Amino acid sequence: MAFIADRLSRIKPSPTIAVTTKAAELKAAGVDVIGLGAGEPDFDTPDNIKDAAKAALDAGQTKYTPVAGTPALRKAIVAKFKRENDLEYTIDEITVGCGGKQTLFNALFATLNPGDEVVIPAPYWVSYPDMALMAEGTPVIVECQEENDFKITPAELEAAITPKTKWVVLNSPSNPTGAAYSRAELRALADVLLKHENVYIMSDDMYEHLVYDGFEFTTIAQIEPKLKARTLTCNGVSKSYAMTGWRLGYAAGPVELIKAINKVQSQSSTHTSSISQAASVEALNGPQDFLAERAEVFKSRRDLVVAKINECEGLSCKTPEGAFYVYPSCAGTIGKTTPDGKKIETDTDFVTYLLEAEGVAAVQGTAFGLAPYFRISYATSTEALEEACKRIKRACAALK
Ligand code: PLP
Repeated sequence: MAFIADRLSRIKPSPTIAVTTKAAELKAAGVDVIGLGAGEPDFDTPDNIKDAAKAALDAGQTKYTPVAGTPALRKAIVAKFKRENDLEYTIDEITVGCGGKQTLFNALFATLNPGDEVVIPAPYWVSYPDMALMAEGTPVIVECQEENDFKITPAELEAAITPKTKWVVLNSPSNPTGAAYSRAELRALADVLLKHENVYIMSDDMYEHLVYDGFEFTTIAQIEPKLKARTLTCNGVSKSYAMTGWRLGYAAGPVELIKAINKVQSQSSTHTSSISQAASVEALNGPQDFLAERAEVFKSRRDLVVAKINECEGLSCKTPEGAFYVYPSCAGTIGKTTPDGKKIETDTDFVTYLLEAEGVAAVQGTAFGLAPYFRISYATSTEALEEACKRIKRACAALK
């Protein structure tokens, strides 16, 4: 009898964390590696947020909190949704978890029966399919086209929905492509979803504040109020407030769903750290002006990377609206041969070559469900990005 449960054989460890770990190991061994795999801002958490955490410690806020999160934090989240998204929620429609990741996991775990389908547009954030599988659901992957900026079209969405569909996942701006849905694009998807009354929508808005060139962020429950009662609007402090290590995410949705999520959480982590919750109250209620300043920095890095990658032989790269990722095609390198005689047959071969030949760590598109592409995270210093692009260009030029 095997010791490890069968359900574990259905899933794989996060490939993006694997690349980051491999790059860190190589670096520790003295190899000159530039990591473009990380899914976190290189900025530090702002001081006012750190100060709020220190004050909470000194005030003895070191005990268990309610499972759904402290009332102060849930009030701050209600205010955030009103202020930024024009969405009215009550405090019992809010749940807080150990990162957006746990809240999304809890939601799937709380709702999926074996065979229930989860529609996931690809390329996708690596965790959605595996979370659905862990919860005994069936991921239904819809491959989106580069010519549609990697966004799901209304016709593709309609075709993917079956009587077994429980959830449709929307992630805008997207990890891994950076693509974000405009108001009109969301409106068209909402029209499809309105026709399917049993389908719930998981709107993952984690990168809300990272949008460029005046792009207006909107979320589906705001676009179509009739969908709000079956939408889980997910967000968190990790990316916007540079708080990945604090492990705090949150979601808003109908009370029945929020209660179910809380029930799962009450028997697993109970809640995230009381100190992280106090810090997040300050993140959401405190000054917000640094968000636009940081977004400007990300925008200039995006522009740099897109321009440089488009100079590389065999690569082509779109300019996405947000997040801190680009998703270049490496189709033009497939079939070529590396200087030491290895044939590039897949995007995995291509990123392996980049790491081995030039010490640049990126993630293969295969990990995100759409090949042949690769993901570059530009959440790293401008100098590192310039050097990485120089190396990628050299690596591409050396292919025959
Ligand atoms: N959703 C997306 C699209 C992400 O990229 C991530 C993190 O990489 C998360 C959710 C989860 O973030 P966290 O658990 O740090 O809040």
